[in-house]
Amino acid sequence: IRSTMQDFSLTVGAILRHGSRVFGRSECVTWTGAGARRATYAEVAENAERLAAALTRLGVRTGEAVATFCWNHQEHLEAYFAVPGMGAVLHTLNIRLFPDQLAHIIGHAEDRIVIVDDNLVPLLARVAGRVPSVETYVVVGDGDASALAEASGGRARVLRYRELLAAEEPGFAWPEVDEHAPASMCYTSGTTGDPKGVVYSHRSTFLHAMAVQSASLVGVTEADRVLTIVPMFHVNAWGLPYGALLSGATLHMPGPFMQPEHLTRFIAAERSTVASAVPTIWNGILEYGAEHEIDLSSLRTATSGGAAAPRAMLERFEERYGLRIIQGWGMTETSPLGGMAFPPPGVKPGTPEDVDWRMRSGRVAAGVEMRVVDDRGEELPWDGASVGEIEVRGPWITGSYHRDPAPEKFHDGWLRTGDIGTIDERGFFQITDRAKDVIKSGGEWISSVELENHLMAHPDVLEAAVIGVPDPRWTERPLACVVRRRGATVSAAELAAFLDGKVARWQVPENWTFLDEIPKTTVGKFDKKPLRARFREAAFE
Ligand code: ADP
Repeated sequence: IRSTMQDFSLTVGAILRHGSRVFGRSECVTWTGAGARRATYAEVAENAERLAAALTRLGVRTGEAVATFCWNHQEHLEAYFAVPGMGAVLHTLNIRLFPDQLAHIIGHAEDRIVIVDDNLVPLLARVAGRVPSVETYVVVGDGDASALAEASGGRARVLRYRELLAAEEPGFAWPEVDEHAPASMCYTSGTTGDPKGVVYSHRSTFLHAMAVQSASLVGVTEADRVLTIVPMFHVNAWGLPYGALLSGATLHMPGPFMQPEHLTRFIAAERSTVASAVPTIWNGILEYGAEHEIDLSSLRTATSGGAAAPRAMLERFEERYGLRIIQGWGMTETSPLGGMAFPPPGVKPGTPEDVDWRMRSGRVAAGVEMRVVDDRGEELPWDGASVGEIEVRGPWITGSYHRDPAPEKFHDGWLRTGDIGTIDERGFFQITDRAKDVIKSGGEWISSVELENHLMAHPDVLEAAVIGVPDPRWTERPLACVVRRRGATVSAAELAAFLDGKVARWQVPENWTFLDEIPKTTVGKFDKKPLRARFREAAFE
């Protein structure tokens, strides 16, 4: 017997068709700093058609990359659909990369066109002299862009997004695109190594978007207004833009206004119901809220991912704002969602048990397969205790990298995540460390994530990062790098006493240093590389 089902391609174009027809009145709302500008999904689709027509006129070919260097806003959303829809590949550039990395990535992806925000022109101009592949910059906004032409020595032309679209009509004839064709690409942010290019297909994007909008992951509907704080250059804003057009949820885009003051004003003014961000952003909102009147009452849920959420953060949001943050896990290579940590049924919200569950990194998402393996690559049991490297496979997990097969990152068809952790019998997994951050003391592992969590629960501690430092007797011992809250004076001895009883005594650090700030990566995670470099040999107090 053969299946009688139609051979229907799962494409980004199909997402746009659905979103603009069925949910043509849902909106993309972009914060301007003083208020909001709005476009319906029907209008977004028309602009995407105009943009695709303009890019075709500029000579964009099937399968080639078109880059964006933009904040989260309506025009970026239009590019999210126009570029894959026309059969090209949307390459979202991380605006916070160092110039060397940025130039490398633009060259590696052979970007010929870069769509750039006017307020980011100065940042991009720093590399415009060393990206020979780029022929055209398309500037969003009317601000000065002369720096780009100057820096490229007049080689690249500079056009305006608004004028390009005005010169076209809606009604672009979208081509038939195979679901396995490339749709977009994103380079890993390189927290633990050189950036590598991950290329998403139409099929992976569609399936991931279906998963994102389902209730077992983020779970959004037409009644939602989703604030995507996570940047659109960071793993497709966790798939939320595509999920929103499938579900009809309105999108709230903060533009360059990523400060807690603006984010909270946006939430209050537009009544966002869901918001997604990395823990650093959530912590910033807590800090701001401690000193200012903020209104988060419209949020029915929020998600945190990209790094371990501190327990104190989850507790404080619940106590102060009644907001239940759900943690998720993922990486650039996994599109990104691999699982969200929704507690199982029967757990009462607001109880310590509920927080215990939400402190898990996630529960394996349908569509993703996960396993944990030991040093020899042998699979370990799902018992919540056996610690090893997490490996994943599935339709939205990468199987290689752009022009870089990187065999060391794969194991019998599974992606090696580089994350160390456990899985329990119900598929809840817990990341205890990254392989590169693991602290091995006297042959035993100490989880930096666990120590950081306990430390950040202390009322005087704003941030804490724990790294391994060389030790003649134990090979490595933990060094706790702590940022005190303004005005706080807590000492190392007091913090060590605070940890006593929470972790095994031999895990309590004897090395402490107090810093003004923990260095952050380009997407706002704690960056341990500079800490390790600084404290490898140097003495600490
Ligand atoms: P980079 O690897 O450069 O930080 P990614 O955004 O791809 O870029 O980061 C993926 C990594 O982030 C994961 O491998 C994991 O280490 C970490 N991560 C993501 N979500 C969580 C989480 N909920 N808890 C702990 N770590 C997380």
